[in-house]
Amino acid sequence: MIISLQILALIIFLSLIISGVISVLEKEKLAIKRSFILAFTVPLPFLFLAFTSFTFQNEVSIIILSIVVIITVIAILPMGRNKKYRQELPINRIDERDTMFSRLELKPDTNRFNEYYKSKSQKKTIDDLWRKNPGLLNSKSNYYNPILFASSQASFETIDALKDKVDGTINPTKTNTDASQITSYIKSWMKKSGAKECGITELQDYHIYSVGGRGDRYGKEYKKQHKFAIAITVEMSKEMVAAAPNASIVMESGQQYLESGKIAIQLANFIRKFGYAARAHIDGNYEVVCPLVARDAGLGEIGRMGLLMTKNLGPRVRIAVVTTDLPLNMDKPIHDFSMIDFCVKCKKCAENCPSQAISFLDREDIDGVLRWQINQEACFSLWTTLGTDCGRCISVCPFSHPDNFLHNAIRAGIKNSSIFRVGALKLDDVFYGKKPEIAEMPEWIRNVKQL
Ligand code: SF4
Ligand code: SF4
Repeated sequence: MIISLQILALIIFLSLIISGVISVLEKEKLAIKRSFILAFTVPLPFLFLAFTSFTFQNEVSIIILSIVVIITVIAILPMGRNKKYRQELPINRIDERDTMFSRLELKPDTNRFNEYYKSKSQKKTIDDLWRKNPGLLNSKSNYYNPILFASSQASFETIDALKDKVDGTINPTKTNTDASQITSYIKSWMKKSGAKECGITELQDYHIYSVGGRGDRYGKEYKKQHKFAIAITVEMSKEMVAAAPNASIVMESGQQYLESGKIAIQLANFIRKFGYAARAHIDGNYEVVCPLVARDAGLGEIGRMGLLMTKNLGPRVRIAVVTTDLPLNMDKPIHDFSMIDFCVKCKKCAENCPSQAISFLDREDIDGVLRWQINQEACFSLWTTLGTDCGRCISVCPFSHPDNFLHNAIRAGIKNSSIFRVGALKLDDVFYGKKPEIAEMPEWIRNVKQL
């Protein structure tokens, strides 16, 4: 029995030391401190029991060990997985003209502006308010940083320069392909090109905006043009996101929109060379709602903050899509109830959202679909004050932790058991804080003297 207690104390000590070392690598200050403090305190009662002689020592030791074993078994037993869980599919299509970036493009005293607010008068008051704010990447905004804002603008302007490349001429000579082989090739190639994940689904009407809302696509009615949609995610740097809402977040958003857009354009071009239609959907130039496509392509679920929650990076990704007629093998949606259940329990994004744009409630019936919807006006209004795209919700999400052994073990536990989900949330609060501190921007940025 004494030996068992000693082994248990050693396992706890080593686990916490490993957690501390991983936290050092991840530069998570609170997790480093708490891991090492716990490593040297939690094993103490077990060592005390093992090395102190007292009446009923054996009996007390048996009870303590039994409690530890029972808790461990309960935490790892599969339960609350709900394998029958299915996400409802949207009934209505989204009009891109109602999105904030489309409304941002409306210029006062123009026909387009007047017509939009004539039909959507309820949006006029709130839009008039954020229009008075300095604006995204503006020098008068709260998080203005000349170098990082210029870097972000450079990324967004490069993306804009690619807008004519999303579609192009199709090779009139079709190459016959084997769907399995070309699917496997595309997925491997995308990952080699920098994608984190790549999934394929059948393009559905609800994936496509009903009407365009940006640039010269404003007012254009969309119809389903292609049979398949390929969704690509790219990772956003943990360090850049952790400092959100500082300027590093908007710099990283721009960079990863560019990376995802670049490989989507490359892929669409490649497919057209094969003799099949293909269009890339990249930042500022979407005809499809990327998170819905990516969800149906098996890359994740839509969480409380309305973003795609991927299996190994949570919402810390950017998405691009290629729609095409190239025959491909499709993936299935993951229908992972554990992610939705974790969001029901968690609420960390809502608690940390500076504009209270994220709901604390359970999913609600919105247009016939049970889901969460953020207050996009409140969120965007804050962006126009900060000058950055905030990203605080992404940075605090427990699913955003790095894709490594420690966090993937926790993710596996979350998927497996509803009781583990509760424990994982408590642990996240202990190691990272219920309201995590905003991290400093990466050292290579801070080292630039002008900053
Ligand atoms: S922070 Fe929590 S509630 Fe919000 S999306 Fe992430 S897991 Fe869900
Ligand atoms: S980006 Fe910021 S303001 Fe918008 S929902 Fe996330 S935390 Fe809230």
